[in-house]
Amino acid sequence: MVTSIAIVDNVENECWIIDVTPDFPKQLHLINEITNSSKPVKIAGVFLTHAHIGHYAGLIHLGHEVMGTNNIPVYAMPRMKNFLNNNGPWSQLITKKNIQIETILHESRIKINDQISVVPFLVPHRDEFSETVGYKIKGPNNSIMFIPDIDKWNMWDKNIISEVNSNDYLLLDGTFFDGNELPGRDMSQIPHPFVNESMELFKDLSLAEKDKIHFIHFNHTNPLNWSTSIESNLLIKEGFSLAKQGQIIIL
Ligand SMILES: [Zn+2]
Ligand SMILES: [Zn+2]
Repeated sequence: MVTSIAIVDNVENECWIIDVTPDFPKQLHLINEITNSSKPVKIAGVFLTHAHIGHYAGLIHLGHEVMGTNNIPVYAMPRMKNFLNNNGPWSQLITKKNIQIETILHESRIKINDQISVVPFLVPHRDEFSETVGYKIKGPNNSIMFIPDIDKWNMWDKNIISEVNSNDYLLLDGTFFDGNELPGRDMSQIPHPFVNESMELFKDLSLAEKDKIHFIHFNHTNPLNWSTSIESNLLIKEGFSLAKQGQIIIL
């Protein structure tokens, strides 16, 4: 399934979904399977990273022909907001009040409840239609950094190594394992930090630090899609982790 995470409050039976993918119906079903309540979980909000289809196209399911939701807050950066406002069918979600856009800004903290806050931050990526952000999610016990798409670590104005030091879990762009993955395509046109480059960058971290790093967002060509591949085994042997579908992290 396409990469998405959710923050789930089991007491209030609410959730906040970060990136609404084309797999959204199945992913919402997965969330309902892990909640304590037998009632459907309430979607208290949606956070979007950027306007590439895998990250927002599932919004269509909120529309009046499908779920017909009522003013779900959708947290989006200014260009992302304009994109949704000015392009159908997304604009119809706004005019029909299925969603309500809340503008967010680089490094502005959004407190989603008493215990948890979410902070968006800009990352370099192919920004044809919108900015691209990652999110830092901070709970009472743990913080998670979520970066599904970024061009290259060295193009970012932050140092990913210090982010590893200062967060508890990092869910990081692992789109392609290496530069040979798409024969016949110029991979410099679709830059991502290759997983083998990231492993090299992180190689001197302690095992405890490496253990925080979970790769996500695999292209269908990525050998990390198969847990028995040589590449998956190498990555685990080096002390890194692969995020799993349905994985739960306590905040
Ligand atoms: Zn993207
Ligand atoms: Zn993506």
